[in-house]
Amino acid sequence: MALVAEKAKGEGPAIGIDLGTTYSCVGVWQHDRVEIIANDQGNRTTPSYVAFTDTRRLIGDAAKNQAVMNPINTVFGKRFSDSCVRSDMKLWPFKVISGDNNKPMIVVKYKNETKQLAPEEISSMVLYKMREIAEAYLGSVVKTAVVTVPAYFNDSQRLATKDAGLIAGMNVMRIINEPTAAAIAYGLDKKVSSTGGKNVLIFDLGGGTFDVSILKIEDEIFEVKATTGDTHLGGEDFDNRMVNHFVQEFEKKHKKDISKNPKALRRLRTSCERAKRTLSSTTETTIEIDSIFEGKDFFSKITRAKFEELNMDLFLKCMESVENCMRDAEIDNSIIHDIVLVGGSTRIPKLQQLLQDFFNGKELCKNINPDEAVAYGAAVQAAVLSGGVEKVQDLLLLDVTPLSLGVRRYTGKTTVMIPRNTTIPTKKERVFTTIMQNQSGIIIDVVEGERIMARDNKLLGGMVLSGLPPSPKGVPSISVCYEIDANGILVISAEEILLTGRKKKITINDYKNRLHSWEIEKMVKEAEKYKAEDEENKKKEEAKVLFELYAYGLRDSVNDLALNEANKKTIVDAVKKALLWLNANQLVECSKYDDERAKLESLCNPIIAKAKMRQNAGSKSQACSKVGR
Ligand code: ADP
Ligand code: MG
Repeated sequence: MALVAEKAKGEGPAIGIDLGTTYSCVGVWQHDRVEIIANDQGNRTTPSYVAFTDTRRLIGDAAKNQAVMNPINTVFGKRFSDSCVRSDMKLWPFKVISGDNNKPMIVVKYKNETKQLAPEEISSMVLYKMREIAEAYLGSVVKTAVVTVPAYFNDSQRLATKDAGLIAGMNVMRIINEPTAAAIAYGLDKKVSSTGGKNVLIFDLGGGTFDVSILKIEDEIFEVKATTGDTHLGGEDFDNRMVNHFVQEFEKKHKKDISKNPKALRRLRTSCERAKRTLSSTTETTIEIDSIFEGKDFFSKITRAKFEELNMDLFLKCMESVENCMRDAEIDNSIIHDIVLVGGSTRIPKLQQLLQDFFNGKELCKNINPDEAVAYGAAVQAAVLSGGVEKVQDLLLLDVTPLSLGVRRYTGKTTVMIPRNTTIPTKKERVFTTIMQNQSGIIIDVVEGERIMARDNKLLGGMVLSGLPPSPKGVPSISVCYEIDANGILVISAEEILLTGRKKKITINDYKNRLHSWEIEKMVKEAEKYKAEDEENKKKEEAKVLFELYAYGLRDSVNDLALNEANKKTIVDAVKKALLWLNANQLVECSKYDDERAKLESLCNPIIAKAKMRQNAGSKSQACSKVGR
């Protein structure tokens, strides 16, 4: 399957993409530095939003801007490939259903047809947009990228991200953890002296996720000592708290519950997010929404203190994670050398203060733009991997496993194969045996998590090594190997090493949420179709604008021309009719616009031409008479 084309002429450098939960950001290494690339709206971060309408697909700012009008077909927010995200579904205005293998599928209406989209397809659309932004800036084709994911992402989610890259037409050279990327960005700015190294704490609070990581930087090596966090904590939760606060206020004031109305909620949420951002720099702000519900306006105020009160428990939860991470890394706060802020939500003053207090007043590093640090690091890594950067060529990156990986024993307990916070890549082997006489096979269930009983952990997959020859219990020697590569992808193999040499291996390809190659191929085709449609729509839009301009031009010129009343009326009526037609035909075939325009032209142009001729003749005779005088 040739999904990734040959390296062709005019191919641009590899880019770094921070595929964020709420915002995405793209950077590229150029002229010995990282350039964060602004989108067509001039914004350096792009909303991770995709929207579908009767006529088109929108991605980024355009999608977010129309979210209020079209809430149920605007997809945003959490990364859906995580099955534990299901509880969030009821909070989303768009619909998510269970597809094959219990895989969440997003349901949207596109061009009046119901479509089901896999989470990877939505991610791929955002990645595609980021690729387009980079291509517009670089003026070349971009085919390779480094993409970042949260540290807690499991194998299937990492692979889903790789697939999303493929669907977007890019080869994802490497998936790296967001905190690691931030650390790379950080490490480039500051030289680390080789004596003793330094410990850095990365505090990343974005729109929907929270990660704390402790890294040791020594001799240009970044080692992740520990990582903790929360997959369901971020700016959106702060927005939600404010939304709930105002829903209650509205109910008290107007005796009406707006929480059942998606459009009203979405508008309120947009206002709340804006208010929250404002409160990071001022101590009070207002909310003003015209006719939010049943014609009622909503005007209110909120202070920074109230905002902090609404969210204090969440802020404290963040600090608890910091404490846990410190414990996992087995260091005390006095030997954290730097504390780095990453993610838009770290702009909240109270959070900064709590974090600073936790570290006894230590200054926080804010010199890296919190929204861009991750993409910055990804861009550096992309350049390193494609051999473009000498300065950081030796830079070695070490990540850790966020959770322990183990195998289920016959007792139901977990035997840990790779403990959490093990530096990757890693490979761990253990020899197992049978528990019964003439046992013909063993089951290897792969679990992820810290619980003692395997059933309390997450089952990642499983396999059976069968065909063992009859033998007493405890005789066969089955060597089980867990290997994680640099991308954080897990391969499990089992081999009977004493009697038969029978082997079996599962890669993540067998994992139930993983897409099949034919599915990817289908999605690539769909992506191409979308692209063709986008282009077609652009042409239609141009034809429409051309027609519109002509009609408005006519309307404006009607008064400047010496027209008799009958002709004037003909043109005014024709223009009115044309504009009505345009209004009813927002995005139709180019030829229809061209035809309508031609009709209008053939009606009005002769009248105008005659009027102009009369006008010219008039001014000429005027000029002559002047000369004659
Ligand atoms: P992601 O989670 O996608 O990585 P970011 O790191 O860009 O996203 O963070 C986005 C979040 O940061 C959003 O919830 C946004 O409301 C929040 N945010 C951005 N600027 C501010 C600010 N000045 N004050 C408070 N929150 C902010
Ligand atoms: Mg982020």
